[in-house]
Amino acid sequence: MVRGSLAGPRVLLRRLREIMAEPISAQARLDKIVVQIAANVVAEVCSVYVLRSDGVLELYATEGLRRESVHRAALRVGQGLVGTIAAEARPLNLTDAQLHPAFTYLPETGEEIYHSFLGVPVLRAGRTLGVLVVQNRAHRTYNEEEVEALQTTAMVLAEMMAAGELEGLAKPGTAIDMRRPVALTGLPLTEGLGIGHVVLHEPRVVVTNLIAENPAEESARLDAAIASLRLSVDDMLSRDDIADHGEHREVLEAYRMFAYDRGWVRRMHDAIRNGLTAEAAVEQVQSDTRARVNRQSDPVLRDRFHDFDDLANRLLRVLVGRGHGKDGDELPADAIIVARNMGAADLLDYDRERVKGLVLEEGGQTSHVTIVAKALGIAAVGQVADAVALVENRDAIIVDGETGEVHIRPTSEVGEAYAEKVRFRARKQEQYRQLRDRPAVTRDGVAIDLLMNAGLMVDLPHLTESGAAGIGLFRTELQFMIAATLPKMTEQKNLYASVIDAADGRPVTFRTLDIGGDKVLPYLRTWHEENPAMGWRAIRLGLDRPGLMRVQIRALMHAAAGRELRVMLPMVTEVSEIAQARGLFERETDHFKRHGHKRPSKILIGSMVEVPALLWQLDELMAVSDFVSVGSNDLMQFMMASDRANVRVAGRFSPLSRPFLRALKRIVAAAEKAKVPVTLCGELAGTPIGAMALIGVGFRSLSMAPASIGPVKTMLLELDAGKIAARLDAALDAGGPEDRVQAELRTFAREEGIPL
Ligand code: PEP
Ligand code: MG
Repeated sequence: MVRGSLAGPRVLLRRLREIMAEPISAQARLDKIVVQIAANVVAEVCSVYVLRSDGVLELYATEGLRRESVHRAALRVGQGLVGTIAAEARPLNLTDAQLHPAFTYLPETGEEIYHSFLGVPVLRAGRTLGVLVVQNRAHRTYNEEEVEALQTTAMVLAEMMAAGELEGLAKPGTAIDMRRPVALTGLPLTEGLGIGHVVLHEPRVVVTNLIAENPAEESARLDAAIASLRLSVDDMLSRDDIADHGEHREVLEAYRMFAYDRGWVRRMHDAIRNGLTAEAAVEQVQSDTRARVNRQSDPVLRDRFHDFDDLANRLLRVLVGRGHGKDGDELPADAIIVARNMGAADLLDYDRERVKGLVLEEGGQTSHVTIVAKALGIAAVGQVADAVALVENRDAIIVDGETGEVHIRPTSEVGEAYAEKVRFRARKQEQYRQLRDRPAVTRDGVAIDLLMNAGLMVDLPHLTESGAAGIGLFRTELQFMIAATLPKMTEQKNLYASVIDAADGRPVTFRTLDIGGDKVLPYLRTWHEENPAMGWRAIRLGLDRPGLMRVQIRALMHAAAGRELRVMLPMVTEVSEIAQARGLFERETDHFKRHGHKRPSKILIGSMVEVPALLWQLDELMAVSDFVSVGSNDLMQFMMASDRANVRVAGRFSPLSRPFLRALKRIVAAAEKAKVPVTLCGELAGTPIGAMALIGVGFRSLSMAPASIGPVKTMLLELDAGKIAARLDAALDAGGPEDRVQAELRTFAREEGIPL
């Protein structure tokens, strides 16, 4: 008996490469491959099992077992030795297979005469696609080298499967697992719908050339690569479209900081001195850093690491000479980028005309890449587990940023449904565009101010696109949340000034920082709070630590020099807080006078109504406020004692309910009595039914996300404000079940032909 030996894996790989290039059918190629492996290994048997979408491993080719059993012999995942290898994604190396408890005898194969058995999983990106087995009659143990060589061979098979070569061999109804349609759900990151083809972002470059022959040469290569990396980061920072978008700039500044980090460069040079090539050195330092970060649980640190990781990957690509995303020809016109995670700069590297979607295994609603995706209008979904392992380049894929659904290789039914959804959205958008310049006036002639909410530079083009009458809420904390370090006074001033410029005479209401609670700033020390939403946040923090607020007020006053400045205060609980805040403005005014700085032509200070306690101080509140704005998101959570961020209770109570609408009516009545302008800027204003109810209780000014302006305007053009007020009053006075008011609103809309 000839003892098997996997001698010459290099020879085998070379032979396999030749077979791969031959112009023969897929089955013929597989058959040749198993013969070749068996010969090289000196094994009597070599078989390939492929995992089907029904969880069955089907024999696709064999040398040594009965040929009739090909495409017949099958084992479930977990069944028999082959099924065990697939289930555990680990090799099995047995001197006597028949003694193994999992051994299952398939009579059609005639394998009872073989004793030794070595099987390895066919893996791709950590996912099992099939199993490759060699068997010998003799009792023998395959050595470690042989196991590794068979695993390398299995990689060739994985490539073949990934290329879709075996698809034609599947019998109807027994599709290969790796090609089956998969539907996943993640976290919606940006609005929008992307239909297209997968482009794997390839977060890692595989380094094969590890050992340096000439360390001096490697050091020089590293220096050249770093210089080129720095140039490209500087270049990105100086691009026109970046200069236009202040928050991108801040993200990229973080990249620049890492690119110029001397410690990083020194550690890489040390690694080269120890004998590594430049690319291996980059990888070693990167993986050391990763291991260190993995030992930490601090999410902020991990987030920062992604920026660094991203940059190290860019450096690797410079070294191995592989660019990506820049070449428009390589990128499909409907690219959906799939990645574990990526930095903002990496996304910006792609031709933005061609990127329609983004799927991330990680990613959060406030991560840098999300902010950039939003700015570029790319549909994005995050927290999609295993996305990278489940796709292949150029697979068909659908990303629904609205629902968080991701459909990989969608069935034709799913594809059709989404094509319809796209057509529907396009028709709607066109209708909204046509309404843009129409005044927002109800059927009975009541004008409603439709304002938009914003917080970043990228929101500003929406002012014109949506036809908003101004910015009703500018959330200044967003600039702070995306920055790597505390934004300086001039940075704040620049942002505010561009906002006022972009508004071009339309009113802009800035809200002072609403940080604290869950709006954490990475660079500020955090403290644990049991109930952060009700904790030390917003105006409370602002008044207790006036340094931050004073700088912001100064920035706002400089930005509005010679123009009107409207500022509102978040989370006011007691009226006296407004007087204290006014005190800070007065101090700054004195400072401006002393230094001869140009002041705003007028300063209006308003209060948000978010804390229920204000409902019993309405007259006093109006007396000290130039305007008020209801933050219905917070007012609702505090009135109903239901956390807006807790999915279990957030939707449990409706704002279209008697208690909430009655509260809103009181606010409007008090504002009218005191002749103080009143707006509502929570999410409620952005839904047509919510806006209808708000007009019903007396609001004449609403601020909402830009995308909501079209739907809300469509609703109010058909609305009679007098009629809805009467109908709502009656519904608020009548008793009945809790959902009665909402039902009445819907009935009213139906009767009146109002689109909700
Ligand atoms: C609100 O609470 O309704 C509001 C507009 O503020 P934010 O959503 O930023 O808390
Ligand atoms: Mg709020």
